[in-house]
Amino acid sequence: MSERAAPAYCPYCGEEDLRPEEGGPRWWSCRGCRRVFEVSFVGLLAPGGSGLEDTDDAED
Ligand SMILES: [Zn+2]
Repeated sequence: MSERAAPAYCPYCGEEDLRPEEGGPRWWSCRGCRRVFEVSFVGLLAPGGSGLEDTDDAED
């Protein structure tokens, strides 16, 4: 596997000093606010560019 993508900024405080965190494959910790968060894929934008594309499990 190639190097995983890294978030550029903390989504909570904007700090750039993020490190991969033990405990989850996509966990990152922020040195600025000490939060640990997960970066996860949600879906793709609809062709128009606003909102998520409909998926089979979206409705329920
Ligand atoms: Zn932060």
